[in-house]
Amino acid sequence: MRYDHLLSDELQRIHTANTYKTETAFSTPQAGEVTVNGRKVVMMASNNYLGMSNHPAVKKAAIEAIREYGYGMASVRFLCGTQTIHLDLEKRISKFVGTEDTILFSSAFAANNAFFPSLLNEKLGSETYKDVIYTDGLNHASIIDGMRLCKSETTDKKIYRNNDLAHLEQLLEADKNAEYRFRIIASDGVFSMEGSLAHVDQLVALADKYNAILFIDDCHAIGVVGKSGRGTPERFGVLKKVDVLTGTLGKAIGGALGGYVSGSRTMIEYMRQKARPYTFSNSLPPTVVMASIAAFDLLSKDRSIVTRLHENTAYFRKEIAALGFTILAGDHPIVPVMLGDASVAQEMSKALLKAGVYVKGLWFPVVPKGEARLRVQISAALSRKNIDHALNAFEAVGKKMKVLK
Ligand SMILES: *Cc1c(COP(=O)(O)O)cnc(C)c1O
Repeated sequence: MRYDHLLSDELQRIHTANTYKTETAFSTPQAGEVTVNGRKVVMMASNNYLGMSNHPAVKKAAIEAIREYGYGMASVRFLCGTQTIHLDLEKRISKFVGTEDTILFSSAFAANNAFFPSLLNEKLGSETYKDVIYTDGLNHASIIDGMRLCKSETTDKKIYRNNDLAHLEQLLEADKNAEYRFRIIASDGVFSMEGSLAHVDQLVALADKYNAILFIDDCHAIGVVGKSGRGTPERFGVLKKVDVLTGTLGKAIGGALGGYVSGSRTMIEYMRQKARPYTFSNSLPPTVVMASIAAFDLLSKDRSIVTRLHENTAYFRKEIAALGFTILAGDHPIVPVMLGDASVAQEMSKALLKAGVYVKGLWFPVVPKGEARLRVQISAALSRKNIDHALNAFEAVGKKMKVLK
């Protein structure tokens, strides 16, 4: 094609910089074990935290959804894309996370892209206004892009150092007498490169003190964090105190796709009127809706699936550290195994795949230079045998590559 040479040049640069993303395809469902090139390997790279991607009850709900509600909606929500099950799912999510109402999107990426400009690009009764977003330095790309969609003339963006709430308070304090209309504090609930949690209780306190809207993206927390999987607000004892929660149906909750914004009745009603990805993009298919409802049913009926995830995580974290690997402390199922050099992470990921473990590396520019790592993700779908197999492989490969302490 015309101009392809410009793209090839860039592709060459990506190769040279060692940041080329490769895909390792498998031919089985997303589960504790998958088959790569005819060989079974233990899956330790997925967001399938609760094993729901291939759970019998979730699959059954999706199949029944096709029978009862058909395959596609062929419409956006407000034209003819709303079935009763869409409303049911929104109610289920609100009940689970403790908010008044919820609006579904085709992804959490879309939800985050929708939230910020819907609110901040609108005059809302006043011709002149200025808003400010205080955003954590490690926030997800979809929050960054959502903020980029806000007009720069009316939106100030202030970045605080990751999880550094003293820094955030400095910024808030400095703006105390500024005439902002909306002040928004935006943070991931879980930082996905680190497996660390935002201090959501302290964020609630700061939002109260400085009269800010607290926005938490709980994509890696819904179904994962908290005794019953209700997310970071449950874990920090601040259920119902976070103003706006976004999340995904594409990780722990079934793992297909879909996202949501949850909050006050008024905020969600406003989003239904204003959010462009809601107004101009298709409604979720019945399979996803029914399977997601089944996922919330499973979660509400029986806490043991979340408990199993937490037990698997504690076991893996303890054992991998005992082998002499350096991991980032914490208790989230995202376990970064720190290796330093990008080439070491790449080589180790390949060696582990040969030894029967599917795990991917992260390196610059995704994480800072010299902090390359393998990102292990633990799941309730993993048996003790799977985890032990992986630990043995880590030990053998780690010894060979001389990365153990
Ligand atoms: C995965 C993720 C998203 C995107 O979710 P999708 O539903 O896949 O679009 C957004 N924010 C955070 C923090 C995530 O981890």
